[in-house]
Amino acid sequence: MRLYNTITRSKQEFAPIDGKTVRIYSCGPTVYSSPTIGNLRAYVFTDILKKSLKNIGKWGLFDVLNVTDVGHLQSDSDEGEDKVEIAAKRAQLSPAEITKKYTAEFTRDTALLNIAPPKVLSPATQYIREMISHIAELEKLGFTYDTSDGVYFDASKFPDYEKLRRGDNLSPDSPTISRIALGEKRGKNDFCLWRKSKPTALQKFPSPWGDGTPGWHIECSAIARRYLGDEFDIHTGGVDHIPIHHTNERAQTEALTNRPMSRFWMHNEFIKINNTKMSKSLGNAYTLTDITDKGYASMHFRYLCLLTHYRTIMNFTWESLDSAKKSYENLVKTIKKNKLTEIEIAALRKEFQDAITDDLNTAKAIAVLWRADVDLALEYDAVLSLGLREAIEKFTFGLNYHADKIPADVIALANKRLEFKKARDFLNADKLRDEIKSLGYEVLDTKEGYEIRKLNV
Ligand code: AMP
Ligand code: ZN
Repeated sequence: MRLYNTITRSKQEFAPIDGKTVRIYSCGPTVYSSPTIGNLRAYVFTDILKKSLKNIGKWGLFDVLNVTDVGHLQSDSDEGEDKVEIAAKRAQLSPAEITKKYTAEFTRDTALLNIAPPKVLSPATQYIREMISHIAELEKLGFTYDTSDGVYFDASKFPDYEKLRRGDNLSPDSPTISRIALGEKRGKNDFCLWRKSKPTALQKFPSPWGDGTPGWHIECSAIARRYLGDEFDIHTGGVDHIPIHHTNERAQTEALTNRPMSRFWMHNEFIKINNTKMSKSLGNAYTLTDITDKGYASMHFRYLCLLTHYRTIMNFTWESLDSAKKSYENLVKTIKKNKLTEIEIAALRKEFQDAITDDLNTAKAIAVLWRADVDLALEYDAVLSLGLREAIEKFTFGLNYHADKIPADVIALANKRLEFKKARDFLNADKLRDEIKSLGYEVLDTKEGYEIRKLNV
């Protein structure tokens, strides 16, 4: 698997550090408003990344996603107010009510898009202790200084601070570093680790530096270190994170550990709407609900994402979604008609795999998919045998054609029944067929194994 690494600015062969488990940290959503399709693109990208790495079949996966429920100011560089706090005041709700509401929306939308949930989902407010001890360690090593409003990281003390964001990484959407007002900061690259609370603050936590809230960047450093250790495999986020958030995360972690925080840093490009920036004030910060309200399926959006390489700006228009919908539906019909020999299938699988292992070339993989034969898999309403289902998922990257999901216990029974059949123990096989029936499903024997259908009751 070759992946583009932002920090080396090149495609590199990937293998996990320990040779066994891929450890990934993804910067999670700031839960103060509904996730936009831009945010969702970031997680479609990481989902494809994770599934592709798993499909290689050599490694396990341990992935962590934080939920930013405190500390993210209006500007990424210590200006403005806390986004959650503003939303809470506006809605006359508590910060906890706001973050609960939008975390639920995020979970719902990602599930609709067939994005697998992470092993660990970690709301920042539950890791304040880890953040405080990270800051205290930095303080001991002399990387911090105090101001009237907080504790700051002195970036000039960290060598190679610019490594990740060097010039060519600055996206047109990234905040320009030069605009940042210095205030009490000693240098323009310095950033807040702990912010002392104003008396009116809704969220505050006790700390050695007084009541306050953590800086946004320290969240990810502390949570990543808590679960993934001093050095892990891949860190992901949108390109907007390169110049400030990830640059600062890296500095404050490596200042402590003297090791590379992550081997690979991977970033997805932005979604634009009609070639302009997506923003709430322009009324074009679309959500998945906006898409489904217009009669499109979530899968049409996922398919649209797959047509653009993750490192290319994706221009969203309603016309592009409409043609993605038509294309997706035609694809499914075409796949049904294709009849291939085993040799042809093997060749296509290789072509498909080659596209994906070349830095996740999903557009090319989709082109291969058009020539594929998964008709059996797409014939019925019910999902078929596990083996085949895996094959579909390999081919379609979670573009789930079936609304009905077969419960895991039914699949387990069907697998057990298959084993009995293979052992020619038809008595027990029939018993399990009845048991499956009593759960409302029918198991049908096929050349490949079996299919399961939901019984009409
Ligand atoms: P946030 O909720 O703002 O913390 O962002 C969550 C994720 O979405 C981050 O990885 C961002 O970099 C990413 N992101 C934000 N806006 C866009 C966009 N328009 N297109 C693609 N990714 C985005
Ligand atoms: Zn982060």
